[in-house]
Amino acid sequence: MSKYVCVFCDERKSDDTAHIINDKNGICLSCSEELSHTPPSLPYSGTKNISYIMSPFEYNGKLRKTIVDFKFNNCRSYAALFADMMCPYLDSYNMWDTFDYIIPVPLHAIRLKNRGYNQSDLISRYLSEYLHIPHKTDGFIRTRATKRQSTLNGLARTENVRGAFQCTENFTGKRILLFDDICTTANTLESCAVTLKDSGAEYICALTLAIHVSQKIPILTY
Ligand SMILES: [Zn+2]
Repeated sequence: MSKYVCVFCDERKSDDTAHIINDKNGICLSCSEELSHTPPSLPYSGTKNISYIMSPFEYNGKLRKTIVDFKFNNCRSYAALFADMMCPYLDSYNMWDTFDYIIPVPLHAIRLKNRGYNQSDLISRYLSEYLHIPHKTDGFIRTRATKRQSTLNGLARTENVRGAFQCTENFTGKRILLFDDICTTANTLESCAVTLKDSGAEYICALTLAIHVSQKIPILTY
């Protein structure tokens, strides 16, 4: 029986214990049960320029640890597994064909060079295929190297990302799905959205792998 490594408990396991396997990585059934799922088909309230925010998991526990490894410890092969884990949640929505582009939140060129990869871009490439939304990584850039949002609080987060992005092409009439790995206060996503709207974007939603629910971003009630 082939074996995989559960990237959440770092144990090598046999396939009959798996919830999802992607290549050599997987998530075992017991780790899967520990994840905090958000309600399917009930998005979170957006921001001034984002209609709503969708995210399948709460950012805590083992998922938090695994995302940190993914971002900062060069575990880039987790991207495909994360994308697979998002699929059931994505299937609970039925509006993906209304988007013109899925756009990962860009990293500044210097950070991209240092890290070697944009973690959001790695995941959104898979989501683009799954959702049949064209993946777009040009025309929208990060012009200012910002501090890591996780090192800041409150207003400092808003200030940190204000004016950090720039469009190098026109997005008139485009309907955009922004993707980031985590949503904490939505400041980064909102800063992207302001810039894209200034360049003509018509409609913007955001999708993230995980959301910090303690930050009081409410579930949208109709
Ligand atoms: Zn596990």
